[in-house]
Amino acid sequence: MKGVNHELPAPLDSEYKTEAWGIPKDGEKHEPLWIARPKATGKLVNFETLYSGVCHSDLHTGLNHWGPCNFPFVGGHELLGKVVEVGSEVTKFKKGDIVGVGCFIDSCRGCENCEEGSEQYCLKGMTGTYNSAKVHGRTGGNQATFTAGGYSASHSVHEDYVIKIPDGADLERTAPLMCAGITMYSPLNYWGATKEKKMTVGIIGIGGLGTMGIKLAKILNNDVIAISQDKSKEKLALGKGADKYVAMTDPASIEACVGQCDLILNTVSAKHDLNVYIPLLKKGKGILCQLGGVGEPHPISQVVLMFNRFSIVGSLIGGIKETQECIDLCVKNNIYPDIKMCEAKDISSVWENLENGNSEAIRFVIDVKKSLENKDHCPK
Ligand SMILES: [Zn+2]
Ligand SMILES: [Zn+2]
Repeated sequence: MKGVNHELPAPLDSEYKTEAWGIPKDGEKHEPLWIARPKATGKLVNFETLYSGVCHSDLHTGLNHWGPCNFPFVGGHELLGKVVEVGSEVTKFKKGDIVGVGCFIDSCRGCENCEEGSEQYCLKGMTGTYNSAKVHGRTGGNQATFTAGGYSASHSVHEDYVIKIPDGADLERTAPLMCAGITMYSPLNYWGATKEKKMTVGIIGIGGLGTMGIKLAKILNNDVIAISQDKSKEKLALGKGADKYVAMTDPASIEACVGQCDLILNTVSAKHDLNVYIPLLKKGKGILCQLGGVGEPHPISQVVLMFNRFSIVGSLIGGIKETQECIDLCVKNNIYPDIKMCEAKDISSVWENLENGNSEAIRFVIDVKKSLENKDHCPK
């Protein structure tokens, strides 16, 4: 699949220019570039970016895996920043506040999903933090350009799409919660694996998402079964709090957990066979929830689903209210993803690492301030 190259227009009077790192044209590597951001008017909250997580979705988008991407492309939908200025109508934030922005920055706000706080399922389509057309009118700036993500020095976002970061948060490690954290929290919350009701939760894939899922499911008082291909992640998974470990290459470990899971969160993002995990579900109620960006269809026997009342479902990030709950919960309980800091000059090599499987189960986070000190790798 090929992307679409656009010419970036000069900033409007309602905009200013800020440093960013992105892919100028389809197929090119990351480079420093200037992009336009809206000034802090109306309900917009302007902040300087401190940290920006690097998510696998960034490269799926920028490499046209999910459809033609719009270039120049600036990735990053795990932003952590400090408020510099607020528009005259902003009521929720003030200068100096620490804020986060996740995977979307606008939605219609009128449909039933927006009204119940599931903006990510907006019936008219959420406006993604990057590579999205500006259609709902709250993004500010030039409406003819596409949204640009967090690999940049600053941003202005409508206050209803900004998350308040509580005092005491570990800021570097809070950034990836904006996508990785909420991706795991939302299905636990929606399918009832919360403190009131103890469940047995399976987590497939012990990478960046999976380890976060183990920590969240445990803090919400569930029993957790970590599930991976082989035994290589056993120590890691148990160290993160998993109660049991299933290696798909070890029949005895599967046998020990057959029929136990109320809910399984599947984070695998490469092509795989779902049928091997079905026996782990609890008869009459087991739910298998898909969270990875796999494009290929899965062959499944519906007879197995019928005779066991199994459900196979999907989930995508979470709404704004839910994201705030997730951040508050994580900060209060001191649970964060494992991260490795990097700079903007490293983005291309970080993407390569993610493409090659990220064996270390860590989330890369760009130190934006430090990146800006490297004048050789800033736009001229
Ligand atoms: Zn993401
Ligand atoms: Zn909506």
